[in-house]
Amino acid sequence: CPPFDIDTIRSQFPILQRRIHGHPLAYLDNAATSQKPRAVIDAIQKYYLQHNANVHRGVYQLSEEATHDYEASRDKVQRFINARERAEIIFVRGTTEAINLVAHSFAKPRLNPGDEILISTLEHHSNIVPWQIICQQTGAQLRVIPISDAGEIDTTAVDTLLKPNCRLLSLTHVSNTLGTINPIQQMIRQAHQHGIPVLIDGAQAVPHLQIDVQTLDADFYAFSGHKAYGPTGIGVLYGKREILEQMQPYQGGGDMISEVTFEQTEYNELPYRFEAGTPNIAGAIGLGCALDYLDAIGLQQISRHEQSLLDYATQALSAIRGLRLIGTARNKAGILSFVMDAAHAHDVSTVLDQAGVAIRAGHHCTMPLMARLGVAATARASLALYNNRTDIDALAAGLQEVKRMFK
Ligand code: PMP
Repeated sequence: CPPFDIDTIRSQFPILQRRIHGHPLAYLDNAATSQKPRAVIDAIQKYYLQHNANVHRGVYQLSEEATHDYEASRDKVQRFINARERAEIIFVRGTTEAINLVAHSFAKPRLNPGDEILISTLEHHSNIVPWQIICQQTGAQLRVIPISDAGEIDTTAVDTLLKPNCRLLSLTHVSNTLGTINPIQQMIRQAHQHGIPVLIDGAQAVPHLQIDVQTLDADFYAFSGHKAYGPTGIGVLYGKREILEQMQPYQGGGDMISEVTFEQTEYNELPYRFEAGTPNIAGAIGLGCALDYLDAIGLQQISRHEQSLLDYATQALSAIRGLRLIGTARNKAGILSFVMDAAHAHDVSTVLDQAGVAIRAGHHCTMPLMARLGVAATARASLALYNNRTDIDALAAGLQEVKRMFK
């Protein structure tokens, strides 16, 4: 990889040229969604300008080009997360749809009254609510791994929760609210010792950490394209072939079949049997391009840059009196949640916006985590590979302004 040059990287993201309320944009809401490099925007535009057609069906050139590019993106995803084969890569709308797919096609048929699904206190609503829905339908129960005040999973509690009637452990790799990086490799091993399969919600991990699903030995791994510099409306469910093969589709339609009569339907082979209907072709192509972009820079360099910026930001925020950082895990990704004595998180965010600083305020789709931490809302700054110290300085200056205004 070429050396990491932050100015070159920033110049590859056109939106970073924008000014907001007369100030340069300091975009620090990357955990919600990331900005897109020109290469990704160009790839999407090129598809619509030159190759647009439906995939898998046409025997004419445009359709073959669209199919080729769509399927080439699947190969890129496979390589990016080191899956054994391309059949293990299912394109979905995002992490949310991936988890719902596993809930309905894998978990639901295997659940009986009294069975359990295990999650953690750190989960996003999209790794809570799908399980509640199928628990309601089957009589199974949702169990929750506790966390410490620092926002770390209590791994000693995990063994006692991995009971014989536990059918799945579904766990986030990185907390979107606190940045905690969970020891997932260890936890997957623990779960497998009890014969329990594991789904990892990788929404906040894929843009920041090198993922190898074979080393992790995850049974399922889900992520969203839009948080990894790709477009919205596209995401990935990785599943081990031997498990996917045992699963029935939960959505029916075109493309997922090999033969249909009014009496019965034979399903298509993997991965197509889980991709009913016309897929997000441009989205998949954009995602493939985003992964190429990440690969060219290298996840190791990206992690190093973000960790160093996280240290800088942690120091800057810790120096502000009346500000309390929430979540102090030892192993953290570039996410800083905090509360201020002077003002509510929403007011903090509104004042920062006037200075061109974009952060998120609220419960971050983790209301049970907020309840555990005893806060109604936090302000959250989340980092990406294009952030620099100037962004953090703008954040810190904006927070001083908050203190002045609400004194
Ligand atoms: N899990 C985590 C940890 C997330 O941060 C998010 C997005 N905030 C999701 C799941 C849901 O992702 P999406 O909305 O892209 O489906």
